[in-house]
Amino acid sequence: MNSSNRLLYFIITGAGFGLLAGWFFGESMSSVAWLGTLFLNALKMLVVPLVVSSLIVGVAGLGDVTKMGKTGAITILYYMATTAVSVALGLVFVNLLQPGVGVVMQGEAPEAAHAKKDTSFIDVILSVVSPNLIQSMANMEILPLIVFSLAFGGVLTTLGDRGMRVIAFFETVNEAVMKMVHLVLYLAPLGIFGLVASKLGAAGGGDAFFNELLKIGKFAVTVLLALGVHAFVVLPLILYKVTRRNPWMYMKNAVEALATAFSTASSSATLPVTMECAEEKNRVSKRMAQFVLPIGATVNMDGTALYEAVAAMFIAQMVGVALDPIQQMVIFLTATLAAVGAAGIPEAGLVTMVMVLQSVGLPLEGIGMLLAIDWFLDRCRTTVNVWGDSVGAAVVDHLETKYVEGG
Ligand code: ASP
Repeated sequence: MNSSNRLLYFIITGAGFGLLAGWFFGESMSSVAWLGTLFLNALKMLVVPLVVSSLIVGVAGLGDVTKMGKTGAITILYYMATTAVSVALGLVFVNLLQPGVGVVMQGEAPEAAHAKKDTSFIDVILSVVSPNLIQSMANMEILPLIVFSLAFGGVLTTLGDRGMRVIAFFETVNEAVMKMVHLVLYLAPLGIFGLVASKLGAAGGGDAFFNELLKIGKFAVTVLLALGVHAFVVLPLILYKVTRRNPWMYMKNAVEALATAFSTASSSATLPVTMECAEEKNRVSKRMAQFVLPIGATVNMDGTALYEAVAAMFIAQMVGVALDPIQQMVIFLTATLAAVGAAGIPEAGLVTMVMVLQSVGLPLEGIGMLLAIDWFLDRCRTTVNVWGDSVGAAVVDHLETKYVEGG
């Protein structure tokens, strides 16, 4: 067994033991939380230098502006198309299974949801440009960093030799950070164990978790089924049809990223691992991985979009509001946008869901119903988000070689 396979098995074992320990030993597992925190902090430490250097080098690697435009268009098209399919899938399942019918609504909307109530579309546009880059870095606000790095990398390519020297500098930064990611991955088995065990433990262990799940069992089943079809049927089909790669091999090579996504519930924190898996194991060209993955981690969220649509319909069914096809179309559009607006951090989707609920006049209190179990469903949708990004890297890489590079 080579060392990368060995690491993979250690990671799966770590996650498995984490589940068992959290399930049976409950809250006492808070004693291993620090292992998870150490791993998570090490990943977060690398995110900002990785995003900035990857995008500067990635944009520079694309060469001229027309190529950047075409590659950008392919990337956005992939993100939009797959997100739309996932929302549509969610709507089909929620209409078929009707998980909210007969459920009594309880709970209150979380604070953060009320705070989000007055956020307008203009606020979303304003959040894309940061008045203070250092502050954005400190707060891990990735979207403004993406915009800055794309613009900075683009401008560097117009400065001739002097620009090339700066690009070469960032190339070395990027290479060094990727090596550090490699090292941090050795922490992954224990880190993932700590994260999973302590979180499940904090939820009261297996029995308490199971009881919470049963309360909104049908909703959870609907979400998981739709996520499952998207992850195991739709995305593999797209991957196979476009690139002729074996989807199961591709998935196996992405397991470290998927397990990290599940244990951290954060696409942004997982980004270093997603990039490592795509570049080193799945052999996606560095150029494309550097461009597609950092943007995907913040913008492309298939799992979140699906979840938001299913949740909004669930709330509508719970309060007995029948939504007609036009209103469902509104949910379809706002869920897609809300997922784009959601940051790649834990439970961000729950907050941006306010947009979806408000668009069709549903009560925000409905979110209260989902709170108790969101930590779990968040992990599942984050895993699908990261899987969607990973597939996107191979798909865009292939299409770029065929249509942009090849002329
Ligand atoms: N936690 C998710 C992510 O980082 C976002 C969400 O809450 O759906 O991808």
